[in-house]
This record gives sequence, C-alpha cells and structure tokens, in this order.
Amino acid sequence: MARIDLVDLAHSYGGNAAAEESFALKPISMTWRQGGAYALLGPSGCGKTTLLNLISGIVTPSRGKILFDGADITRATTQQRNIAQVFQFPVIYDTMTVGENLAFPLKNRGVARPEIEKRVREIAELLDLTPVLNRKATRLTADAKQKISLGRGLVRSDVAAVLFDEPLTVIDPALKWELRSKLKALHRALDLTMIYVTHDQTEALTFADTVVVMHDGRVVQAGTPQQLFDRPEHTFVGYFIGSPGMNIVPATVNGHEAVIDGHTIALQRNYDALPAGARVEIGVRPEFVEVAAPAPGRLAATIERIDDLGRVRFARVRIGDVKFAARVPNGFSIPGSEAGLIFDPARVHIYADSRLVEGQDLEGRA
Ligand code: ATP
Repeated sequence: MARIDLVDLAHSYGGNAAAEESFALKPISMTWRQGGAYALLGPSGCGKTTLLNLISGIVTPSRGKILFDGADITRATTQQRNIAQVFQFPVIYDTMTVGENLAFPLKNRGVARPEIEKRVREIAELLDLTPVLNRKATRLTADAKQKISLGRGLVRSDVAAVLFDEPLTVIDPALKWELRSKLKALHRALDLTMIYVTHDQTEALTFADTVVVMHDGRVVQAGTPQQLFDRPEHTFVGYFIGSPGMNIVPATVNGHEAVIDGHTIALQRNYDALPAGARVEIGVRPEFVEVAAPAPGRLAATIERIDDLGRVRFARVRIGDVKFAARVPNGFSIPGSEAGLIFDPARVHIYADSRLVEGQDLEGRA
C-alpha cells in the first residue's frame, strides 16, 4: 500500500491547450493517506472516473504529477503502479473455479503456492465464498460473481491501492447493504489503501473514513461524513449530502445578522468582511430549523406539505418565493398552513460565491 500525492494534477480529453474551465479534472493537489478508506462521491459527469483512471494509469494526465510514496509514477503503466481494480461489472473467468479465480492475481505475480492457498482461504472466508470455492464460476449468480471480482481485487496484500468503480451497481439491493458493511470490515482487516467511486451518498458515507466530494471537475471538500454534514465548505456539498439536502437561500448579511425576505436571523459569528460583489447565501440544514406556530421573532413561512420519513418528519415550506425544508417536532400541530421558523444560530452558515465564509467570533477573533 502507498501514500498517494496528486500535485497540480489536471486532465482535459481535448488536450492541454483547451480552456481550463472545460477540463474534465481541474487542477487539484491532495494527499491520500496510506491505508485510508476513501470514497470519491459526486453526480454523473463530475470527473470521478477520470480521477480514478489517472491514479490507476489508464489515463495519462494533461498536467501535473502523481507520486506513490514520494516516487513519481505519472508515466508508469497500471502494472508498474501495482494497483488492483474492481469495476462495475464482474471481471472473472467463467471456466475457472471460484478458488482459481481468487488465486489468479497471485499466480500471475509468481507468489509461492502455500502463500496463495492461505490468502485465498482468508479472502474467501471474509467474503463468505468458502462454501463455493470449488464450484465453477459460470454457474453462480451475478451477485456471487461480483463478490469474486471484489475478492480478486483484495487478494494481493502488496498492492499500492485498491480502486473500486461503482462496484455494487449489479448487486441485488438487499445484498448491497451487507456488502457495503463487509467492505468496511475488509478494509479494517486488510489495511489497504482503498478508493471507492460512487454517486450514492449512502455507499460513500458507510464505506469511507474520508469522503472526497467532486463537482464539475473539482474536489469541493474532503472530510469525514460528520464534517460534510456539520460544515459543508461548498454549497454543493450541503445540497448533495443529506436527505433532504441543506437549505441554501439568498440573504443579505450585516455583521452578525442575516436578512431573508425582510426577516432578521441572528448569527453566531460576525461577517463584516464579505468579499465585495459576492453572491451571498445562508445555508442551514433542515434538521436545525424547527417548524412552530407563527409568532413575533419567528420567520413567517407557509407549509406546503409534510413528509413523514418514519423516524423524522420534514415540512416543505415557502418563505415568499423561496422553497425551504424544516424539521417538524414531535406532537406538532397548528390550524392552517401559516407557520413560524426557529433557527439554531450555531448551525447557520454563510456562503460567498458558493464557498463557506469563516467569519469572526463576536469578540472579533477569526
Ligand atoms: P459517471 O458517474 O457518469 O461515470 P464521472 O463522475 O465518473 O461520471 P467522468 O466519466 O470522469 O465523470 O467524466 C467527466 C467528464 O469527462 C464528462 O464531461 C465526460 O463526458 C468527459 N469524458 C469522460 N471520458 C471521456 C473520454 N474518453 N473522452 C472525452 N470526454 C470524456
């Protein structure tokens, strides 16, 4: 396994001369920790596969460098990089047994027979494949075949990293949950650097210690699931993570107060130094805005509907023309649809041109 450094890495399928705004991957510098479990999360077309293919060597970057443990491998082949990959669809040999499939990457590298047998037994056990080790792969279900693919990706202990590109796409929904948690356990047991590409936030948040969120060819935030929930550094992270996503609403901010639709909301920090001419928005997760009866000091809103998600209810409300989501407390009921919203000031963030603004505490410290 290896520490991976990306140094000013960028890629354009149209060549280096293309305008940077059109790059599939805009310049990025970041480090992937040795032994870390990472998810690369973002919507279709944001550049996840491009970044993964740059790390594996399938694509050569237009700009920048990739280092494995400090060594420059930017021009090295996938084979030289010593990377294992698991793709969306099973890549296995139907005519071989499950055991032979798992042993294949080790045989290819000339690993000694007793070591191969030991490792195959371990991986089969971790993936519940022991009972079918001697069966021909051709007779197995698509789920089982993808498990073999996962096993082939994980069987070598000397790889620099294991890269997964949406590996659970073909897995039955009921099994997905089980395999997701299994992958997490495998990461702990095997101590490999793993990078897992997905557009599904649940998959990313269950698997990874660090989730790297991409938007329009850029990494907009890398953090723990808790950091992405508590302090989205970009409005896209707020909107993309969470269900429902964060409310992001245009606002006027003066010092430690924000004004939405003529109503003033107290803030916990001071925002005197917002960049001139920036598009200013407040961001607050629905979990931290409570629906209550209308009252002075509460932001007036009209309830459009209430969604019952089982353990929690969210109201879809309107503030003037702006749509908003807010938590409905247990036992809440009011006649009619007019409500008042109560904000948790500690959870209201300020964004300028989509980027989180730190602000100063009310004593003036940054
Ligand atoms: P998906 O989840 O749909 O695979 P993604 O986040 O992995 O999306 P990429 O496949 O990396 O995104 O694509 C990023 C951008 O690069 C897209 O605009 C895509 O059309 C473009 N792109 C990807 N591969 C190529 C290619 N081989 N040639 C030209 N453009 C490409």
